[in-house]
Amino acid sequence: AATPEKHEFKAETKKLLHIVAHSLYSQREVFVRELISNSSDALEKLRHLQATSQDVSAENPLEISITVDADKKTITFCDSGIGMSAEELKENLGTIARSGSKAYIEKMKDSDDTKDMANTIVGQFGVGFYSAFMVGDKIAVYTRSALPGSEGYCWESDGLGSYTLQRTDNVDVGTKIVISVKSDASEFLDKSKLESIIKKYSNFVGFPISVNGEKVNTVDALWTKDKSSISDEDHTNFYRFVSHAWDEPAYHLVYKADGPLSIRSILYVPTKNPEALGFDRIKPGVSLYSRKVLIMPNAENLLPEWLRFIQGVVDSEDLPLNLSRELLQNGPIIMRLKSIITSRIIKWLQEESRKDPAKYKEFFKTFGIFIKEGVCQDTSNQAEIAKLLRFETSANDAAELISLNEYIDAMPSDQEHVYYFCTPSRQFGLESPYYEPFKKHGTNVLFLHHALDEFVMGRLSVFEGKRLISIDSKDVAQVLKKWNEADQAESASDTSAAPLTTEQANELTAWMLPVFGMHVKEVKVSERFMSYPAIVTDFDSPSVRRMMKMMAGDSK
Ligand code: ADP
Ligand code: MG
Repeated sequence: AATPEKHEFKAETKKLLHIVAHSLYSQREVFVRELISNSSDALEKLRHLQATSQDVSAENPLEISITVDADKKTITFCDSGIGMSAEELKENLGTIARSGSKAYIEKMKDSDDTKDMANTIVGQFGVGFYSAFMVGDKIAVYTRSALPGSEGYCWESDGLGSYTLQRTDNVDVGTKIVISVKSDASEFLDKSKLESIIKKYSNFVGFPISVNGEKVNTVDALWTKDKSSISDEDHTNFYRFVSHAWDEPAYHLVYKADGPLSIRSILYVPTKNPEALGFDRIKPGVSLYSRKVLIMPNAENLLPEWLRFIQGVVDSEDLPLNLSRELLQNGPIIMRLKSIITSRIIKWLQEESRKDPAKYKEFFKTFGIFIKEGVCQDTSNQAEIAKLLRFETSANDAAELISLNEYIDAMPSDQEHVYYFCTPSRQFGLESPYYEPFKKHGTNVLFLHHALDEFVMGRLSVFEGKRLISIDSKDVAQVLKKWNEADQAESASDTSAAPLTTEQANELTAWMLPVFGMHVKEVKVSERFMSYPAIVTDFDSPSVRRMMKMMAGDSK
């Protein structure tokens, strides 16, 4: 064998390793899940390659064997997967693969609270391969790529500042990771302890896992099972397995269909939204299988962009195994799958909102931003997605959210439109002169506070035949006029409130216009004012005005 080459870890990796070394004892068992999940990924890749290319032969059975040696104080994870070349070893084990962890470390680079960072990073993003250093003070990785002409390599590190890389003979295709267990982590040298951790986190891995020769897991593809035989605990574990996340699934859906396409699937809504924490855009979370063989992890085109928070598995035996990338992205079967599954997800969320409105409200607070994105982008499903929206209203407490259907159902028979108001805050909305006539007339108004809401409402514009109208737009003139006429008829006897005659009004506005000069396009006697003597309204629609301001670089 050649002499070992020494390489320094990148600065961010050193920081991560330092954090990992300070993780809580109670978190350390996750290294088992991380290493098994890497082996499972490597086996899936090899199985797919075997199904699609002649160059890769199937020599060894696809499996994960774990060996514990209490005397030597080592745990060995061995898989017959795709393996790694020297370049891949350097690239994959020398840098941080997980964008979430990386972004978090970047963000926290000036923090000294290592314990706290360790909690967050291990709990929220997982540390992948590096978790082996939570229990090991030396890690050796022996690997050989399954691609023709490959050579074996040994990667070794004590997890401090550097690692060595060495070409090595007699390495089987796949990857073998030998952990020299730290003296304070000897509990993991116990075979039954290890088995119980594997059962807890990795029971659904689609390859046999053995510890010292005895098989541990069930190797059942959960999505082929009967829905009633899947427990909540199964769902939590499977969700965590597919999503690489640590939260609980908020909702799960076991969906099967036999026509027009054969579909076996399990889908999850997470509890947490990683994008809200300021990290990268979520990658698509649903993987595509055909007859239990993974054909595309995190399939890009399986779901529309706005559903990128959904996690899970879709298996369709109508998909040929060796589908080209182009066909996987735009082929007719994918398009049909996409349309069927998207409709099913929308229906699923509608069902969940009816089953438990309080729980759905929490979902909407976390993932509502994606629903709004869907309303804007997914035009073919817009009407159904809009049913998933929830709104604060002037009539209810701020905390109570209602749907557009509920708003319409509660409308008095003479109300024609849905009224909404985009304001920075509820207080601001309630005190606004735009809202005053609606308040006086007892008309419910949807209050929206997010910067994008105005755009969303503009894109939707109509719901179940009702127009959505902003109360600060000129579209409300008609209803204000109607209300004013009614009011005037009522107070006709009250001489102190006599309105201006048309002549008086014309005289007043003719005098005012030049006073405002360039700033004003038109001065009219309004039907709108009540306790306010005058009000400025938009000539263009408010969203057009705000867009123009944004384009001009004005933030407010
Ligand atoms: P992630 O799994 O999220 O990509 P990890 O830190 O767990 O991050 O692993 C980093 C990379 O190292 C993997 O993406 C993979 O390319 C490679 N790798 C890790 N373990 C194995 C393995 N057993 N076989 C082949 N490649 C592996
Ligand atoms: Mg991993």
